Amino acid sequence: MNKVRKGLIFILVSPSGGGKTTIANKLIKNHSKSLNFVVTYTTRKQRENEVDGKHYHFITEDEFLKKIDANELFEYEKIHGNYYGNSKKKLETLLEKGVDVIYTVDIKGALKFKEEYSSETCVVFLALPSKEEMLTRLKRRGDSSSDIERRLKTANSEHAKLLELHGTGKIDYFVVNDKLEESVELVDAILRAERSKTARLTKETIVNKLKA
Ligand code: ADP
Repeated sequence: MNKVRKGLIFILVSPSGGGKTTIANKLIKNHSKSLNFVVTYTTRKQRENEVDGKHYHFITEDEFLKKIDANELFEYEKIHGNYYGNSKKKLETLLEKGVDVIYTVDIKGALKFKEEYSSETCVVFLALPSKEEMLTRLKRRGDSSSDIERRLKTANSEHAKLLELHGTGKIDYFVVNDKLEESVELVDAILRAERSKTARLTKETIVNKLKA
């Protein structure tokens, strides 16, 4: 394979209901040949509209714990009583090939990527336009009222973490996901700009472009 640049890890972070999944799916559609979704393993219950192996790999807690023991997961977390984790091998194979990958995680997860793969990782924080809108979107998505209550609390702590990180360069972009189409357009533009960064291109690619 003729690698023109390093693979990029494009991360969407937001409180629950912030639009990570929706925007990630749109980006994958826009870049079906060049952007890959690495499916996360989870012990969370499958929602009605979710497909195993597409949205998540739904596995049991036992299976998940075995993956931790075998050191197969790059990062994992227990959120609201459920485990979420990402495969190290899959990610590194894609990066090696120069393929871009997209992840939807929380701030803690994003920071792990930044630590381990700092030059490859770009983090975009998606904020909701208001608390009221967050409530509306979670209700519309069909979340239960106890889930919604817990997610509102988590959103407050994610906002606090975001502010704590201000000035550290760990969260690269801040986007308010108000009108979906505009948000998709902006996040897509960020992805394209990141791909054009000189540091991501091999010297050989630049030499070839200059010769053309
Ligand atoms: P997350 O993955 O961050 O939890 P989702 O992508 O599941 O969030 O979005 C939560 C809900 O809000 C979904 O029902 C989705 O269709 C809806 N949604 C996402 N972005 C917007 C937007 N800009 N305007 C209105 N609804 C949105």
